[in-house]
Amino acid sequence: MNILVLNLPFPRKIIRRYSCSYYSNGFLYLPQELLRLATIIKQNNTGNTFFIDAIAENRSVKDIIKFVKNNHIEIIFTLLSLDFIDNDLKIVNKIKQSTSVPIVSISYLASLFRNQFQHLDVVLDKFFEQKTYFALKNSSSIDDLINSLKETEGKTFDFNPNLINQVDRSFINPKNYQEVFCRGKTAFLYFGFGCPYKCNYCISSYDYKNYTLRKKEFIFDELEQLYKEGYKNIRVLDDNSTINKEFLKELDIFLKEKKIFLNFYGLSRISLIDKEMVEILKDVGFKRIYLGLETLNQKMQEYYEKNIEVNLTILREKIRLLKSNGIETGLWMLFHPLKQTKNELYSSIKELSYLKADLVNLSILVPYPGTKLFDLEKENINYSLNPFISEFKTNYNCDKIERMFYVRYYLRPLNALRIMKFVLKYPIKSINLFFSLFKNPIDPRKDFI
Ligand code: SF4
Repeated sequence: MNILVLNLPFPRKIIRRYSCSYYSNGFLYLPQELLRLATIIKQNNTGNTFFIDAIAENRSVKDIIKFVKNNHIEIIFTLLSLDFIDNDLKIVNKIKQSTSVPIVSISYLASLFRNQFQHLDVVLDKFFEQKTYFALKNSSSIDDLINSLKETEGKTFDFNPNLINQVDRSFINPKNYQEVFCRGKTAFLYFGFGCPYKCNYCISSYDYKNYTLRKKEFIFDELEQLYKEGYKNIRVLDDNSTINKEFLKELDIFLKEKKIFLNFYGLSRISLIDKEMVEILKDVGFKRIYLGLETLNQKMQEYYEKNIEVNLTILREKIRLLKSNGIETGLWMLFHPLKQTKNELYSSIKELSYLKADLVNLSILVPYPGTKLFDLEKENINYSLNPFISEFKTNYNCDKIERMFYVRYYLRPLNALRIMKFVLKYPIKSINLFFSLFKNPIDPRKDFI
């Protein structure tokens, strides 16, 4: 079978992941879910498997249609984003109308509301890896494959992150992908999937509420191979790179034994940062950790069921510890337009500055259907599925508030000095990021930094 795995084109650079989507400016992540899927397909398909990342390769819809026709593609697998789903659906329709090739859509939203996406040929949910693997094993023709995939709709599978040892990077050009403020060849990978915490606004990676680590041998082999291939940086895509302390310790021993030196970047919860964890992170080679703090208001911490203790002295000490061990810190903050006022947000800047993080990022909270927060706030949300809108009913101009937050935060002398360090080291990326804050005043930014 001639199968194409496609990251759909889009007018701007965006990142699509199963559980989130955002604009990217000055950086670009690999569509790792699609690359994992392409690898699974290639290993189980007797025909040709193609992979196109139309975002990274700047390919237009026209290009894609031409490619599909020229290469006699028989089926396309793609991932629909959350925030940009309307645009993605238009592109899917265009490709479908021009080529008549069936399209399998992996989508959090469409799988949640399958009845309202009847026009899509097949919709796959978070079990898309297992379902595709299972269907390929049981199919000898495209019709078989489609029927088999359709039969899996609505069914639950056991999640197995080890259907492949590692992704097939021959599909991609690594030069197309970069971490924020980072130089050198960068690879993206998951140690594991899902998150055991229960923050009520969050759809964790692959929407799994338990954390499942890949086979350690697979991760170790992959890192060894990447190092031999000249990769310098690893962006760990886990929601939380610090969930499994024992694994990180073993990873450290492995890297030391093999004399592998890589720079790691990833996310964590600040509550998991302590002296021992910082030492492990330093030994492994972490150079930057993004910390989801979200709010300095203890009541809001409880409201989000995040439950991080807001003690500024302790939080500042954790950040100091990381920085004194050569690990940069980025703080992720949220603004709830109904539960916080803009004045509260702006006055929190002083406390936030006291923490001395290298980077601070603010997002306006989006209440996504399927989350506990969405159910809690139903009455207060402007919601429609088609077109997709899910935002709090507020008179605030949230985008303006977000921009003003950045201006006020980064204009404080010490914060400005910290950001200058990045600007001097990465001038072009910084300019891109700076202009992205102001470039699309009508568009919600839905991005970070
Ligand atoms: S810790 Fe992070 S990934 Fe886990 S549920 Fe909370 S916000 Fe989501």
